[in-house]
This record gives sequence, C-alpha cells and structure tokens, in this order.
Amino acid sequence: MRPTGRLHLGHLVGALDNWTRLQDEYDCFYFVADWHALTSEYASTGDITAHAIDNAADWIGAGIDPERSTLFIQSLVPEHAELYLLLQMITPVSWLERVPTYKEQIAQLSEKDLSNLGFLGYPLLQTADVVIYDANFVPVGDDQVPHLELSREVVRRFHNFYGEVFVEPQPLLTPTPRLPGLDNRKMSKSYGNTIDLGDPPDVVVKKVRQMYTDPKRVRADVPGTVEGNPVFIYHDAFNPNRDEVEDLKTRYRAGKVGDVEVKTKLAAALNARLDPIRERRAAALARPGALREMLVEGSRRARHTAAATMDRVRDAVKLRY
Ligand code: AMP
Repeated sequence: MRPTGRLHLGHLVGALDNWTRLQDEYDCFYFVADWHALTSEYASTGDITAHAIDNAADWIGAGIDPERSTLFIQSLVPEHAELYLLLQMITPVSWLERVPTYKEQIAQLSEKDLSNLGFLGYPLLQTADVVIYDANFVPVGDDQVPHLELSREVVRRFHNFYGEVFVEPQPLLTPTPRLPGLDNRKMSKSYGNTIDLGDPPDVVVKKVRQMYTDPKRVRADVPGTVEGNPVFIYHDAFNPNRDEVEDLKTRYRAGKVGDVEVKTKLAAALNARLDPIRERRAAALARPGALREMLVEGSRRARHTAAATMDRVRDAVKLRY
C-alpha cells in the first residue's frame, strides 16, 4: 500500500481482509510502497514517513500480526530497485502505456503532472516488488488486476530470454474488490469520499448520513432499487446480521423503509466492525517507536529473501563476476 494518506474501508474489504486471512496459510510479505508514493507525490514528500507509520498501525488494527507476517518498507530493500532496472531492459514501453490505470489516472488526477518516467513505470516496479518474493498470490483490489497481468507477461518475457527464475503471480480478490465511496465513485483518498479506519464513531455516523443512495427515491414510500445502491453494497459487506439486511432490502424495494433507518443500522454495523480496529490501531500508534522498529526489522528479513532472489537473477542474466 502506498503511504499517501490514511487507510479507508476500501483498503479493508478490498485488500486487508485477505491479508489477514492469508496469514494462516502462507508466508506473507506486506509492505509500505513508499517509492510508489513518489511516482505521483514527488513534489511533496514530507508526509510519507508519517503516513507509513499510520498505515502500519491500521494494518495491525485490521489484524495483521508482525510476528507471523513480514511487514517492511520498500525503500529499505534496494534489491527491488535493482530488479526493476533489469526488468526495464526487457519491457517494451508500449506495454506500460496500454495499462488501463495509466491513462485513467492521468485524466483523473489532472492537477498533477504525471508525465514522469516513474509514473509510467509504476506497474513494472510493482512487478519487481512481487516477483522478488516468488509470490504466488497478490491480495489486491480489482484496480490492480491489469498490473498483475503485465507482471505475468514480463515474467514470461524474462524467462524466454534468461530461463525460469520467477513464479507467475496471480491476483487474489475479496468478495468486495471495489468498494464505492460516499459519492458512489470508487472509494479513494484522491476523491475525498472515504470512511477512514481511524474515523471516530460520530464521524462515521455523519459520513453515512451523507451517503449516496437511490437518486430516484424522493420519499420513503417510493419503492427503491437495492442493486448497485452503495448503502446496500455496504450492508452486504459490513453487516453480519443477514436477517436485518434481507428485511431492509425487502422493505426498501416495497417503499416501506426510510433512508434514515437504513443508514442508522448501517452506521451501527460499521462502528461495530471498526471498534476493535480503532482500539488496536490506537494502541499501536501510542508506541510509534515500536512500530518503526518493527518495520525496520521486517525490512531486514525481507531483504534477506530479496537478496537470495537477486543472486538467482544475476546468474540468469549472466552478470556474475
Ligand atoms: P492504494 O491506496 O491505491 O495504494 O491501494 C492499496 C490497496 O487497496 C490496493 O490493493 C487497492 O486495490 C486496494 N483498494 C484501494 N481502494 C479500494 C477500494 N475502493 N475498493 C477495494 N480495494 C481498494
């Protein structure tokens, strides 16, 4: 995850839920992608390290266990940069230009100058990040799926030139791979439409009140649409009381429930989900020095694995002196 701001519900249900689950079965590497943050935030880098610490507290809040998973900082493992450089040698520029997020982000973030080489190379640096750990699965939201497609193509091209070295990584999606934000666009820091994992309960209530619902439903006695309605997407994602959700949907379709009731129940479900996360997050943030040390120690462990891969890579490319 890029340390460009606070983490939100999209990060939780799009990625972190899988991060937590995978810890039981896999040897997991999760990292603060600070170089990736620089690809768009190169003009103001002052907050990156503070966001890194805040994001790590959110991970712990969400249930990531630094004893079981390796949590690290990308820029503390310079082997990623070496592999990125070698991958640049074999990757056609056109492959990067046709990645859909490239043109989309340039259009959406028009206030930023994203004509830099680093931004074009974003998914290739990501490829290096992933394949340097022989990753089988990459637990991400659906915006990242084309990046992993590129990763697999690059791995195949590398293997054609130099022989088999890497694993071809697959994306691993959650049941909510793209959570809408308060305004029904994708939830994203850059759109200002988020509910953050650290938001206090009253802020969550206020934000839920502003949420977009069915725009055609002008009064509570008008039948409403449930499908694609963000308030119900949220109920499906966050409300464990299935009977309550089904009852609300039935009454909503029949024009027998007001938005206020639907939203009040949603805010209660969200706060129940967020309470333990907020508690663990606050406990972690109370000891920022320990968080920093944990990330530095994790980076040391990650570097050990990355260095072993780079030994194989240098042999494959015949750069052994
Ligand atoms: P980013 O903040 O863009 O670095 O994203 C970090 C991770 O969270 C990536 O795996 C994204 O796919 C995922 N993610 C971000 N926003 C959302 C969202 N609204 N819904 C689902 N997943 C998301």
